[in-house]
Amino acid sequence: MKRKFKIAAVALAAMAVFTACSGDKNADSGKIAVSTSINPVHQIVTIIGGDKVEASRMVPAGSEAHDFEPTIRDMETLSKSKILFISGLGMEPWADKAKETTGAKDLVTAELSEGIELIHLDEEDHEEGEEVEHEHGDYDPHVWLSLDALVTMAENAEKALSAASPENDEYFRQNLEAFRKDVLELKSEYIPKFAAYQGKAFVTGHAAFGYMCRELGLVQMSVEGPFQEGEPTPKKLEELIAFARVNSISTIFLEEQASPKVSETLAREVGAATETLNPLESEGDLLQTMKENYDRILKSME
Ligand SMILES: [Zn+2]
Repeated sequence: MKRKFKIAAVALAAMAVFTACSGDKNADSGKIAVSTSINPVHQIVTIIGGDKVEASRMVPAGSEAHDFEPTIRDMETLSKSKILFISGLGMEPWADKAKETTGAKDLVTAELSEGIELIHLDEEDHEEGEEVEHEHGDYDPHVWLSLDALVTMAENAEKALSAASPENDEYFRQNLEAFRKDVLELKSEYIPKFAAYQGKAFVTGHAAFGYMCRELGLVQMSVEGPFQEGEPTPKKLEELIAFARVNSISTIFLEEQASPKVSETLAREVGAATETLNPLESEGDLLQTMKENYDRILKSME
């Protein structure tokens, strides 16, 4: 009897070790371990997952989200995750390979932009000489800068989390409804404020604000293209200067990650002030930053 008991105890201990390594749940906290890519994806997953989810963000704050490559440490964390949450549409060209490299069979990818009505990029949105085919894709990936799209992303996160952890589905749904309410509040506050500025233009660092413009009825012009390809050609800069003059642009928006010096030059050239806009892909609280961006754009159009 004593011997049998011992074997059972060893087997249990071995199982405990196996469970700890299998990655379904974090052994210490009992939370579902997931990996997230960029800032908006991480925030949405954290908002919906609440204290049931341990989300590890891969693309660090302050980095150029369009240029990220995972480190070995990222890969270790990813291999212990149950879900890899991405935004999609070329924001995470590294994701498929990273997932494959982990060899984790149970790891699923949840693409939060699924189901959003996408903005197709014209040839001219890609930099001259750039192959349209490769990793970037044909659609504007910056979906999270639309409030409606944020709700769709949150719904997708809820679906993926509930599928991975059905015992918590009610909890995730409640978090989704709370988030939906916050977004609708922001929407009903700001959409009317932009009614007087339909078709108005603003100039920004990189073309990240297409979905915001569609939602608010505005037009963006940018120093860099949607995939942050680097400084513009002299010809493109001339076009920007002409555009700013024709549209009586009084503020040029800068982004720290997207050629701020060119934006400053442009502002000097047309006698405009400079102000920052945050495309959120690298850092910033989602709804708070949306509000700040809105206020700054409104002020520039007064
Ligand atoms: Zn971007």
